[in-house]
Amino acid sequence: MVENSKSILVIGGGVAGIQAALDLGDMGINVHLVEKRPCIGGKMAQLDKTFPTLDCSICILAPKLSECYRHPNITLHTLSEVQKVEGSSGQFSVEIFKRARYVKEDVCTGCGDCATVCPVRGVKNYFDVDLMTQAAAYIPFPSAVPPAYLVDKESCVYLNYGICGLCIQACGAEAIDFTQTDTSLTLDNISSIIVAAGYSLIEDTVPLKKFGYKKYKNVISALEFERLICASGPLEGHLKRLSDGKEPKKIAFLQCVGSRDERNKDYCSSICCMYTTKEAMIAYEHDNNLETYVFYIDMRAGGKGFQKFLHRGEDEYNIKYIKSKIAQISVDNKGNPKLVYENYDTNKIEQLKVDLVVLATCIIPPEGIDELAISLGIELDENKFIKTNPFYPMETTREGIYVCGCVHEPMDIPRSVAEASSAAAKAAELVRGGEF
Ligand SMILES: Cc1cc2nc3c(=O)[nH]c(=O)nc-3n(C[C@H](O)[C@H](O)[C@H](O)COP(=O)(O)OP(=O)(O)OC[C@H]3O[C@@H](n4cnc5c(N)ncnc54)[C@H](O)[C@@H]3O)c2cc1C
Repeated sequence: MVENSKSILVIGGGVAGIQAALDLGDMGINVHLVEKRPCIGGKMAQLDKTFPTLDCSICILAPKLSECYRHPNITLHTLSEVQKVEGSSGQFSVEIFKRARYVKEDVCTGCGDCATVCPVRGVKNYFDVDLMTQAAAYIPFPSAVPPAYLVDKESCVYLNYGICGLCIQACGAEAIDFTQTDTSLTLDNISSIIVAAGYSLIEDTVPLKKFGYKKYKNVISALEFERLICASGPLEGHLKRLSDGKEPKKIAFLQCVGSRDERNKDYCSSICCMYTTKEAMIAYEHDNNLETYVFYIDMRAGGKGFQKFLHRGEDEYNIKYIKSKIAQISVDNKGNPKLVYENYDTNKIEQLKVDLVVLATCIIPPEGIDELAISLGIELDENKFIKTNPFYPMETTREGIYVCGCVHEPMDIPRSVAEASSAAAKAAELVRGGEF
């Protein structure tokens, strides 16, 4: 940390927030990175491989995570959220609320002995999209940053009933600390703020219900697919159906689920055409006999090399693209989904039986966006993404507060990183007075 100097606050520790923090830290500027989850990484940490290169997602992200953790100019505040912002551009004062971890972050060795002895099982695991459960003492994923366990307050026997404490005895490093409480801290001397709070995905809405999501085990979301096919996921990368453990031989991928639909979200989620093709490619790499079908309204491949990527899907990975509108999905008594759809090329109503259906669900603003916007005093657009000036796309409606990544609008990783560097450069002007 540079002594007595102004700092910049970055809200959200996904790839966008991490990149902004690293750029600023490397310029010699103090950064406070606030993340509401127990670790940084955001959605990119949950992905298997990334388009357009099909590189392993965590392999690209992990070096950035540890660089961020070790960077002398970056202070990481996990389990934390912004409560209040006072002052103005160049001189903000920010109040942060930090939830207790019940594990001393700087003492925990990450050995996992606390989780081994924890008698509580069945705690939902957000990182694996609730496909797996865990103990009350847990680490979200093996290479999580910070590399420290935490205790889930709601399910811990000790915290709720004052009995148990097996983890205290098991922890050789003496890192378990049930005296920790939720705290607030105030950060003064904040010259500018970057909002990088990312996105959520629609759940429990009419289009998902229509396709039998959560009702039929063989209708899953694209993010669930990423976890299921990932070597570090619940199935250790061996894709199987959740209903009966059988390997799927025919998979249907449905585009625009909830998006580009006036009764739901009328905007385009922007990345689904590409990641769906990527998911079909990865599945094919696992099993060369696999049949994959992509049901789409129209394909949007507006990025460098993207159109070529789709052609490779068709030519090298045997993906069949069907321009269509899905009318209905039902399942037979073995759990096999049947799709009824209008084929726009043949102008006929057709049917297809598959083993698994994967839904590209619409990207929406992150949970808590209304409260965050109120705390920051910024405006949201009609879809509740952060409002910006079209010609100054990193600037919000409040001077000194900038935005990057999916909280701005749905976008892929390369664009999130580009926006992060751009927001960092704008935010740095307020510390450096335009001099570098
Ligand atoms: C199924 C699927 C597959 C995808 N595949 C690809 C791909 O192959 N290639 C590609 O380029 N893109 C892909 N994407 C898109 C990619 O996930 C995004 O581009 C990227 O994650 C955006 O990063 P972000 O930092 O803006 O948001 P996020 O990854 O969502 O990170 C935001 C962070 O902010 C935190 N946060 C939220 N609210 C607050 C708050 N109030 N206070 C503090 N912290 C907060 C969150 O916990 C999170 O850690 C895919 C998306 C999906 C859904």
